Amino acid sequence: MDAANRVIIAGGGLGGLIAAIRLNRAGFACTLIEKKRYPFHRVCGEYISHETTSFLKREGLYPEAFNPPQITTLQLSSVSGKTSSAALDLGGFGISRHTFDHHLCGIAEKEGVKVLNDTEIESIDYGHSFQVKTISQLFEADLVIGAFGKRSKLDIQLNRRFIKERSPYVGVKYHARTDHPDNLIALHNFRGGYCGVSNVEEGKTNVCYLTHRDHLKKTGGIEALEQTVLFENPLLKTLFTNADFLFEKPEVINEISFQTKEPVLNHVLMVGDAAGMITPLCGNGMAMAIHSAKILTDLMIEHNNRLRDDLERAYSAAWRKAFSKRLWFGRQIQHNLFGTEAGSNLAVSLAVNSRFITNTLIKLTHGKPF
Ligand SMILES: Cc1cc2nc3c(=O)[nH]c(=O)nc-3n(C[C@H](O)[C@H](O)[C@H](O)COP(=O)(O)OP(=O)(O)OC[C@H]3O[C@@H](n4cnc5c(N)ncnc54)[C@H](O)[C@@H]3O)c2cc1C
Repeated sequence: MDAANRVIIAGGGLGGLIAAIRLNRAGFACTLIEKKRYPFHRVCGEYISHETTSFLKREGLYPEAFNPPQITTLQLSSVSGKTSSAALDLGGFGISRHTFDHHLCGIAEKEGVKVLNDTEIESIDYGHSFQVKTISQLFEADLVIGAFGKRSKLDIQLNRRFIKERSPYVGVKYHARTDHPDNLIALHNFRGGYCGVSNVEEGKTNVCYLTHRDHLKKTGGIEALEQTVLFENPLLKTLFTNADFLFEKPEVINEISFQTKEPVLNHVLMVGDAAGMITPLCGNGMAMAIHSAKILTDLMIEHNNRLRDDLERAYSAAWRKAFSKRLWFGRQIQHNLFGTEAGSNLAVSLAVNSRFITNTLIKLTHGKPF
């Protein structure tokens, strides 16, 4: 392998964009292929942990120009509306993915990454090199980064284990105008789910919740679910009743899976959710996408001219060391909060009543600045 290596980055979320920018700066010939067209909205709580901030500033990628709200306090509420607050050790900032991904794509294109919008990859095959097919084009590459997020047709083509099982979680997101304070991220529980509320740029509030598909089926749709189930939490009822919603209809995604995945499969090097997704409850998925892209690109630059096997082994080991424990704790928290209603009530009331438990959970599911 040499510095003129052709790299294809499959998917342009935070993981893919950061990887493309860094490799392009190191002299790799990068093509990023994204099935949608920037800028676009995504289902995401849009709270980014400050563990990413020093890295983003060092690389000149922090979205300073958008003056993102600085979030320092977590508020938890139980289904009945009982609340507790805790200062966040590191905290985070709020920025919409519509703005942040577009900002990073602008930097990537300006610096020379070839970005293909509106282009969906149909398959990735490996012989002596990679063959990456879209409906109308065939690309050859020396290395492929899988940055295609939580669920993609490529997971089916790569025959991944997790895609064979159905996953019951549904995510719903709005932007709204509210009186929610800039420094606060609220996590409001409701029967069978939780709703995150925090501010992003331009005085907007992100309202994003995760629930089980059965609850949606039982109530008959999103609006009915909100009015009959979310509104049982008085804080959510007040929020939804007084907010000025900015989308005509919410962004919705289905089949969200938190099962284990492989950081390397068929020689494709995975970053972000394609390597493993942490429950949104932890507010840490974007930090993991950015961090995994940093770990991988550091190794790719370091392994220049060395064997592919060495790179794959080194990345798998580094990825597991950085993220396996965090993902395991995330799965336990998700399982306990969704497992049974009694389990959920107990977990929330323990967290609401004990700052120690809340702080411990935050520590177990977050990383350190990198
Ligand atoms: C309800 C919910 C709330 C969340 N809230 C937060 C939060 O507040 N804070 C946080 O840190 N994390 C949060 N997350 C997690 C976070 O959104 C993800 O971890 C993060 O977006 C992962 O980034 P990524 O780059 O791996 O993937 P993505 O951002 O999903 O990007 C993947 C890209 O690949 C593209 N793609 C897929 N298939 C193909 C293909 N075949 N060809 C070409 N392109 C393709 C997609 O269009 C997409 O743009 C939340 C997630 C959910 C579901």
